[in-house]
Amino acid sequence: MSPKRTAVEPAVVVIFGASGDLTQRKLVPALHSLACEGALSSATHVIGVARSAFSDGDFRTQLYAGVEGYARLKPGMCALWADFSERHTYLAGEYDDPATYQRLAAALAEVDGRRGTQGNHLFYLATPPTLYPTIIARLGEAGLNHSSTGWTRIIIEKPFGHDLESARSLNAQIHQVFAEEQVYRIDHYLGKETVQNVLTFRFANAIFEPLWNRNYVDHVQITVAETVPVGRRAGYYDGAGVLRDMFQNHLLQLLTLTAMEPPSAFNARALRDEKVKVLQALRRLSLDDLVLGQYQGYLEEEGVTKGSQTATYAALRLYVDNWRWQGVPFYLRSGKALADKVSEITLQFKGVPHLLFPESADLAANRLSLCIQPDESIHLRFETKVPGAGMRTTPVDMTFEYADNYSGRRLPDAYERLLLDALQGDAALFARADEIELAWTVVDPLLNRGVPFPYGPGSWGPAEASLLISQQGCEWDYGCRREKKGGG
Ligand code: NDP
Repeated sequence: MSPKRTAVEPAVVVIFGASGDLTQRKLVPALHSLACEGALSSATHVIGVARSAFSDGDFRTQLYAGVEGYARLKPGMCALWADFSERHTYLAGEYDDPATYQRLAAALAEVDGRRGTQGNHLFYLATPPTLYPTIIARLGEAGLNHSSTGWTRIIIEKPFGHDLESARSLNAQIHQVFAEEQVYRIDHYLGKETVQNVLTFRFANAIFEPLWNRNYVDHVQITVAETVPVGRRAGYYDGAGVLRDMFQNHLLQLLTLTAMEPPSAFNARALRDEKVKVLQALRRLSLDDLVLGQYQGYLEEEGVTKGSQTATYAALRLYVDNWRWQGVPFYLRSGKALADKVSEITLQFKGVPHLLFPESADLAANRLSLCIQPDESIHLRFETKVPGAGMRTTPVDMTFEYADNYSGRRLPDAYERLLLDALQGDAALFARADEIELAWTVVDPLLNRGVPFPYGPGSWGPAEASLLISQQGCEWDYGCRREKKGGG
């Protein structure tokens, strides 16, 4: 994201929780794809740390299955596997045992000497979040929070805290050991090409930005809908709910990118300063701005507490109290077991000031939809004349499809981009301490408030969510999957 990207220096990536799902499905496949493209230094080495009694060979076998199953560039697509896997070693140990970190320090010194990784160390916390404070403290005690010859950085996975207080406390624990500049709090949504394209669309084009304000925008809708129920994650999810799982991070990230002012430069500080200003300008929410839902059947999921009132759906109405957005509602919704899988940002524009064509009294509003997944595209809806006599109009859709324009190029996984950025010291796509805490300030007052309304799996959430938006004469809709139009 920075104007001039630095070269990728050789480094050791130390993954805590290396026996787990994230390492196998996302992290090592991402590193493999980057290595295949020659984007990494050939000296890059990975040390996996976890309690499981793996040998290096066991670890590599597990990683191979992950790379084969999930990487964009698989072992068969570049003849790299033998060398790549040899640069992955495993260290078994308890996360709270100082001896684990002494052995890690010795392993790092050995790899630095043998591989020429120059004392550059990137720690990745991919364990359950309850272990983060312990690992951070032990790294500090072992003196691994700095390196005498290179740089030291730490990536912290989501969730970052489970409320404002715990997020503040985690930030304080981190800052006792690491300087803020060393810390990379990940929200993988920001690694998605289509999310970054929100910034390109807004700030690399002159024609849209003049319309991007209260004078022309009627309202904004941000939808992140999933069709899947909670499934295997029920144990975690029941203690979290949709507001913690999706709103505090992904939906508020999308909102800040949509609402922010243009940064003066494209670097971590300027970008994050502008996002923080949006969060600071958010009007305090009242419970009237919130609708919660729980899909029918949730209570029967394995791992869900009897009688749980955890919300699996939420719709919010937010206002950004500044000159650009005064009076423009931002409607955000997300949920599980919904009718379609879609993530999108839609700006609906105001109507024409005077109607010239009486045959078309109910003109559809112009609408711009930035489609994040699964159909990566941009849609613009506008009115056209129906051919023939009279002046009847009908809305049409102008579409840009990533797949058509960049055919043959599979979009890189978000983790590829984020790992590369962290290795290059570019924190623009990672959350800063104040940003995380402000996001929690928005969500915190809504936690454990109100009983969720039931909704049918495969629907678009509870009917009450339609009332939330219809109060202002709007309706839920989405522009990215036109063949499945609807979404009320
Ligand atoms: P896992 O549940 O697979 O755990 C990772 C490793 O942590 C396990 O292999 C295990 O290693 C160790 N571990 C698990 N439970 C405990 C425990 N109770 N006490 C001590 N160690 C334990 O997690 P994931 O890999 O799925 O996720 C890692 C982190 O990344 C989490 O914070 C998660 O929220 C986050 N994340 C994950 C995503 C994913 O797609 N998986 C997506 C986004 C975020 P061992 O027993 O060998 O020590």
